[in-house]
Amino acid sequence: MPDNLLSHTNELRPEAAAAAGGVPHPPRASQPLARRLARAGLAAADAICAALTPGWVRDTPGLVVLALHSLCRSRAELHDPALAPNQNVCVEDFRALVEAMLECGYVAVTPEQVAAGLAPGGKYVLFTFDDGYFNNTLALDVLESCRVPAAFFISSNHVLEGRGFWWDVVHRELAAAGLSTSARNAQVRRFKALLPGQIERVLRARHGPAALRPRGDGDRPFAPAELADFARNRWVHLGNHTADHGILTRCTPDEARRQIEQCQAALRSITGTAPVAIAYPNGNHSPAVAAAARAAGLRIGLTVQPARNPLAAADDQRLMRLGRFYFHGRPDVDLEFRGYRGGFVPSRLVHRMLQAA
Ligand SMILES: [Zn+2]
Repeated sequence: MPDNLLSHTNELRPEAAAAAGGVPHPPRASQPLARRLARAGLAAADAICAALTPGWVRDTPGLVVLALHSLCRSRAELHDPALAPNQNVCVEDFRALVEAMLECGYVAVTPEQVAAGLAPGGKYVLFTFDDGYFNNTLALDVLESCRVPAAFFISSNHVLEGRGFWWDVVHRELAAAGLSTSARNAQVRRFKALLPGQIERVLRARHGPAALRPRGDGDRPFAPAELADFARNRWVHLGNHTADHGILTRCTPDEARRQIEQCQAALRSITGTAPVAIAYPNGNHSPAVAAAARAAGLRIGLTVQPARNPLAAADDQRLMRLGRFYFHGRPDVDLEFRGYRGGFVPSRLVHRMLQAA
C-alpha cells in the first residue's frame, strides 16, 4: 500500500475521517502546497545532516529492513497509470540499492534468520516487498545475480480471487477524472479509515462492478500457481500481509485474528509452508495485534516506523514491531541510502513527533 512520511498525519486520525461522515472527500485546497513545502524542507534538512554525519556514526551493528511494493522494468514505466504513484520502483534502482548495501558490508538475511536471532556485532539487511504484485517476479534477476534473499508479503485473498488493489483503483479512476496526485493521495488516506470490504463496495458502486479487476500484468496480483512457482525459488521467502490487506488495528479482535490466520492457511496451502513473518498492512499494529500474530505462529512483525533495529534474540518481543524504511528509488536514491545507515535524520524526528501527537 502506498505510504509516505507526511501521510501519517491523517493515518493517525482515522476518527477524523469517520467523524466527517466516513466517506472520503477531497482535501482543503491549502493542504497540497503546505505538504509539498514541508516535504521539500525536510528533504533539504535530511540532506544537510547526511552530508555532515561522520562515518563512524553510520553502519553500527543492527538490522535494516527495507520495503518496496511494485516493480517495473524501466524508468519509462514508472508512471504506469494503472498503479498508485510513489510505490513503483524500477529494477535498475532496486539493483542499485542491493549493491550499495552489500558494498557497505551489510549481510542480506531471511525472515527465518531474523526470527532465530542474528549474531551480535553484524550489519544486516532484509529486503521486503508488500502486497503480492505479480510484477515482483522482476526482482528475481537481481536476487539471483547478487545472491540475496528477499521476503514477499502477500495479501492472500487478492491472490486467490485475482482481485486488484483498491489504492490502484482509486488513483486510476480519479486520475481519469482529472484529480491531482495530491487530491488522489488524500482520498487514499481517507479510505484507510474504512475496512477493505467497505472500500471495495464504495469503489464498485462508484466505478462499476468490474472496478477491482486488474488492467494487466503491471497491477495484478500473483495467481496461486504463479505464487507457488515463485516461492520455489531459493531466494524467495513469503510472508503474511493478511487475507484482505486489513488494517488490523481497525478490525475487531475476531476479524484481526481471522485476517491473519486465513492468510497463514492460504499461503501454507499454496506453497506448503507457513510464513514466520507478517508485515502489518499500513504498518498499524498494537500489543493485541502482535499477540494474535504470535498465536498464529508468526515470529517477526514489520511496521512502517522508519528506524534501524537493534539486534534481538529469538522470541524477543521487539521482533514483533521491527522498524522498516520505504525505498522510493530515484531521484533520491543516494539520500535514501544514506538515511538507512544511521545518524540524525530530521524527517524521522518529525515523523515520531507526529505519531506522538
Ligand atoms: Zn500493503
